Amino acid sequence: MSIQFKTIKELSLMLEKKDISNHELIEETFNLVEKYDKLNAFITLNKEKALEKAKALDNKSSDLALSGIPIAQKDLFVTKNLRTTCGSNILSNFIPPYSATVIENLESSGCISIGKTNMDEFAMGSSNETSFFGKVNNPWGANLVPGGSSGGSAAAVAAGIVPAATGTDTGGSIRQPASLCGITGIKPTYGRISRWGMIAFASSLDQAGPMARTVEDCAILMNQMCSHDSKDTTSLDEAIPDFTKNLDKEIKGKKIGIVKEFDLSKLDKNVVKVFEESKKHYESLGVEFIEVSLPNISLSVPTYYVVAPAECSSNLSRFDGVKYGKRCENPKDLEDLYIRSRSEGFGDEVKRRILIGAYVLSAGFYDAYYKKAQQVRRLIKNDFDDAFKKVDLIMTPTTRGPAFEAGSMSDPIEMYLEDLFTVPANLAGLPGISIPSGYVDNKPLGLQLIGNSLQEEQLLNVAHNFQKTTDWHLKTPDMEIKS
Ligand code: GLN
Repeated sequence: MSIQFKTIKELSLMLEKKDISNHELIEETFNLVEKYDKLNAFITLNKEKALEKAKALDNKSSDLALSGIPIAQKDLFVTKNLRTTCGSNILSNFIPPYSATVIENLESSGCISIGKTNMDEFAMGSSNETSFFGKVNNPWGANLVPGGSSGGSAAAVAAGIVPAATGTDTGGSIRQPASLCGITGIKPTYGRISRWGMIAFASSLDQAGPMARTVEDCAILMNQMCSHDSKDTTSLDEAIPDFTKNLDKEIKGKKIGIVKEFDLSKLDKNVVKVFEESKKHYESLGVEFIEVSLPNISLSVPTYYVVAPAECSSNLSRFDGVKYGKRCENPKDLEDLYIRSRSEGFGDEVKRRILIGAYVLSAGFYDAYYKKAQQVRRLIKNDFDDAFKKVDLIMTPTTRGPAFEAGSMSDPIEMYLEDLFTVPANLAGLPGISIPSGYVDNKPLGLQLIGNSLQEEQLLNVAHNFQKTTDWHLKTPDMEIKS
């Protein structure tokens, strides 16, 4: 029985009924990894240990929630004794001495980490073209980008290699690749999932979340991934509900906001058509749409591209060839060591962000850029607060369009605009989900729902009702991977 494209729920049932053994499931998973090697979705595999854990499960049954389920981990989470690169040359030989809380939570709930997925270097990118380990390919078409930065995770799930993967989202890196690869991904409220052991990009924006084929699987994963963690000072000490409990609740009477300031007429008409059809579908389920105004929303991308580089320039200062990171060969002196280790270790996009960040934080420009950006960020959050007085959720397209060709977007500003619909939720710390909602030229396209703080249950409920009554999430690519 094939395991490709199966969900967590389906695989759990197969294991329970002994249609497949734990060991066979993991072996079959690695066969798929090999078969779709050209996707370049993985940087490091965990084959030996994964097979060992599966064998142990065959010998001693367990009733853990994710027992035996293969999961791919974004290479931004540190994993004890398993290489963790963050997609960068500077960490290409880094073997962490401990695991991230997310990894520990998942593994202690029985799941089997099969490897580390490829990603944009230090999670900076929207196309997965900036990885030191090469670009990731989208299973939906040769030479199409999978989106970024969690592109390896998205490609591995879209190709049906694993039912689910972990991702991180600083400005859209779970939702954007989910949209471009035709899968489901949720970025929870900031602080819901511990950042301990996540290699920091922009600490006030970074948030981990699950990527899977269905909303239901995302809810199952959220149950295990969320925890209050005293090792992360921004971790929320809030009750964690059973995220699967209310999935099936009726959504009749829900109010969803459409953002007045997002002028969709500027998008491709087929993209708008997909969005309008999703709206109609929700209306048929009894949802009411209301126009809401987020007056400062147009400032989201510029604000994000001040705050994120500022925090990245500070966070990445630890990679200097001394404290962390690969050291250059034969340094002349200390300064040479720093300069060459960092020059050789980081790629172009990371260097660009460090330069922008150092500039906006510098004494002469801090007030004009960084402080101003933080003030605007507050205004954006206030806009959302006002909107959520009128509506339960807000709906937008996840991306401006479907997957584009690798190498076709050379202007960084153009690339930054890819994040138009996703960065507002990060700036405001709000949860957002992307679900498959249609196709443009045979390429999948996602729909985004944004909820108020800590309202993931409602978000998952409304998204699940869409999947219960549509089949966009069930489509699979025919995998003609040529490059
Ligand atoms: N595309 C955005 C960036 O490059 C977001 C990345 C992310 O969410 N990690 O910063």
